Amino acid sequence: MNHRRLFNRRQAPSTNLIRQELVEAMQEPGCALCGLAQQKSSRYVETLLETAVMDVDQRDDWRYAGGFCQLHAEMALTIPNAAGSLAILYEDVLQYEMAGLPDLEVNRSWWQRHRQGVKRRVQQWLYKRQERAGCPVCRTWQTQEHLYWAVLLDDGDQDDVMRVFIESDGLCIPHTVSLIEFGSTHIHLPAVLAAQRQCLQRLHGHVKAFIRKQDYRFVHEPYGEEADAWQRVVACLVGRWPGK
Ligand SMILES: [Zn+2]
Ligand SMILES: [Zn+2]
Repeated sequence: MNHRRLFNRRQAPSTNLIRQELVEAMQEPGCALCGLAQQKSSRYVETLLETAVMDVDQRDDWRYAGGFCQLHAEMALTIPNAAGSLAILYEDVLQYEMAGLPDLEVNRSWWQRHRQGVKRRVQQWLYKRQERAGCPVCRTWQTQEHLYWAVLLDDGDQDDVMRVFIESDGLCIPHTVSLIEFGSTHIHLPAVLAAQRQCLQRLHGHVKAFIRKQDYRFVHEPYGEEADAWQRVVACLVGRWPGK
């Protein structure tokens, strides 16, 4: 593949950079967007841990978001020397959570006399929680993800980019859904989805070949490309490359 040709179109450097990252990610195993999400999110987590402790605005946002989602919290726990920042930031969240509970701490007799009132308080409390902004890393990544979709869709008529895409493992199903949501009216969506279908068909063929070799009549046959198809099909449906 002529990479110079891929990246030399007359476009804003940021678009070229996004394309370059996307094409490079497509040459790695698994869904390119899952790979980029992992790589970028890890950087966002590190930056947030470094800056949010000192930045008042970020601290407010962090507190209201309730910290990281489970995935990004697990990521944060693996970052070296993050213990101090994590303790400070999560102490803040814990305090915020504790401050919200007294509304629900009514005594037993009040509870018995005002069941409807209690129910209303609980519903209000739950509603307030649902209104929260959510994990700051997920939000940042979502904005970034849209930039990749825009470039992929705009390149839907470019043979060189589509060839790299078709030769890749394709997108996982959750990212396929995300692409369709973002590009539902884009003129190149059908072409990109046709390329994605080829990737899924190849995976399907590998899974079927793997299943065939589970049969005692064919167990003596050596495994080829289909050897890890059982892992790839799970990753494709779940949206994460196993073990990463
Ligand atoms: Zn994915
Ligand atoms: Zn998250």
